[in-house]
Amino acid sequence: MQAKPQLNGLPSYKPGKPIEEVKKELGLSKVTKLASNENPYGSSPKAVEAIREIVTQTAIYPDGYAASIREKVAAKLGVTENQLVFGNGSDEVIQFLCRAFLSSNTNTVTADPTFSQYKLNAAIEGAELREVPCVDGVHDLEAMLEAIDENTRIVWVCNPNNPSGTYVGEKAFISFLERVPAHVLVVSDEAYYEYVTANDYPETLPLLEKFDNLMVLRTFSKAYGLAALRIGYGVANPKLISTIDPVRPPFNNSTFAHVAAVAALDDNEFITNCVDKNTKSLKQFEGFCQKHNLKFYPSQTNFILIDFNCAGDEVFDYMLKKGFIIRSGEALGFPTCARITIGTDEQNQELFSALEEMLQLKTVEQ
Ligand SMILES: *Cc1c(COP(=O)(O)O)cnc(C)c1O
Repeated sequence: MQAKPQLNGLPSYKPGKPIEEVKKELGLSKVTKLASNENPYGSSPKAVEAIREIVTQTAIYPDGYAASIREKVAAKLGVTENQLVFGNGSDEVIQFLCRAFLSSNTNTVTADPTFSQYKLNAAIEGAELREVPCVDGVHDLEAMLEAIDENTRIVWVCNPNNPSGTYVGEKAFISFLERVPAHVLVVSDEAYYEYVTANDYPETLPLLEKFDNLMVLRTFSKAYGLAALRIGYGVANPKLISTIDPVRPPFNNSTFAHVAAVAALDDNEFITNCVDKNTKSLKQFEGFCQKHNLKFYPSQTNFILIDFNCAGDEVFDYMLKKGFIIRSGEALGFPTCARITIGTDEQNQELFSALEEMLQLKTVEQ
């Protein structure tokens, strides 16, 4: 047998460690996972109730057109229904785009470090990857422009960027869009859109009218707290949507995801509440870093990347023993950092105490 040669040596995705596994391994009774940017407040109770109401409907295939959620999202965003494509998480939309646009003899441009799925999917399609170093965690759009040539098919702008939490402002993004050649698809991955508070963060939906080569990605996994259900979507002009739609498997979202997402969109209060709490907690994280002289990357998301000035794995191991699963920066392109999801107030205070203990130990060592 012979698989595509580009699969040779490709690593599998390494997710944050599951809570139960850590409890067992370390004999801990309480473990807090702040590793995957999940919503610590769960989801809207309306979403859970919507699933409860149809929980027996397991034998029937979901609606492959996703009519209910399509109608709801279109109305909410002020776009037409044929401007949307739904994926099994926005991860799957990334996969659709790579399948549709990338092959050998083409290339794709990303920031570095950025979200790992662009690179992985490009590799699977056999496309060349052009990684452009970030400056202080921020996309260097000018250098990304320079990396584009006639064989470039997709350029990825992760905004805000995972794992740094930083963002590209409206002026810079529009100026970038104006200069990207028309044959190149620009993807604005906005997985943390709901959490953003910066006034100059680009509102990309109105830009779709002017830029046929723009696609916006959003998800229900983060602020909406529906990560387990796997639903996200892309927004673009109808022609681009119909071009990539044949790549989509026919029943790629579950019925449960559809009803939960529809209900979640009716609960603005839940989102506002979570976002307010997140914004307050982020400030406490920043205060913690300032107090302890730790460099951090200013975040517009529900996570923060902190530079601990030592191996990220060391921070990860220490915190794991204390019952906290965080992400080491070593696998994320920031080797002396850790990426920590903002938790509930109680979780954050406990985390700060554990971090403080670690920092004290380190001063004693030095
Ligand atoms: C979490 C995340 C996604 C994917 O989320 P799904 O659960 O697949 O919808 C996409 N992009 C970024 C930058 C993310 O952080």
